[in-house]
Amino acid sequence: MNYNQAKFVTSAQKISQLPASKGEVAFAGRSNAGKSSAINTITNINGLARTSKTPGRTQLLNYFEIAEGYFLVDLPGYGYAKVSHSVQKAWEKTLSEYIETREQLRGLVIIMDIRHPLTPHDQQMIKWVASYDIPMHILLTKADKLNRGPANNVLLEVRKALAEYGYLITVQLFSSLKGMGIDDAKFKLNSWFAES
Ligand code: GDP
Repeated sequence: MNYNQAKFVTSAQKISQLPASKGEVAFAGRSNAGKSSAINTITNINGLARTSKTPGRTQLLNYFEIAEGYFLVDLPGYGYAKVSHSVQKAWEKTLSEYIETREQLRGLVIIMDIRHPLTPHDQQMIKWVASYDIPMHILLTKADKLNRGPANNVLLEVRKALAEYGYLITVQLFSSLKGMGIDDAKFKLNSWFAES
């Protein structure tokens, strides 16, 4: 796939508004973990996913087309304190429905700040997504914030903590700032898109 061909196509507020799709990979993560930056880095398009926090816009499924009928989907960051409880609830309902019903979803990329990996919310999400047999790939981003040794230790610890999921979950180091881990991330996405 040519990720640098990505073009924003639509923001869907509900499942009924999702575009016709042959295959898609979604991105999730706690707000501020670096999800927008990761999407911008993988596509090499600055500002494709908004890095600024606009509550109105973050409560949507944002679709970026990378080839005809194939998409990257930017899911709202979770745990965003500035949205109301009711908005949060409504969003959780939409996310549940998306994960449970979207057959075109090939895999979920979960972004975690390497300094705060596997928060309770992350773990809850992983357990639940795994129950639907949806593959996950974790980007431990902002890896530039740690030295190589400590970063690799976190990588090993996270892999160990998720070992029970076997091949369903893979984990890698990533840095949007340093452009680290881009090829590995694309390799994973390609393997998902290649599945029919
Ligand atoms: P989002 O809320 O998950 O979409 O997070 P953003 O992509 O907007 O990033 C949140 C903050 O972390 C911003 O200030 C980014 O500049 C910063 N950031 C994102 N990725 C990296 C990274 O790889 N390294 C460093 N050092 N900072 C990053």
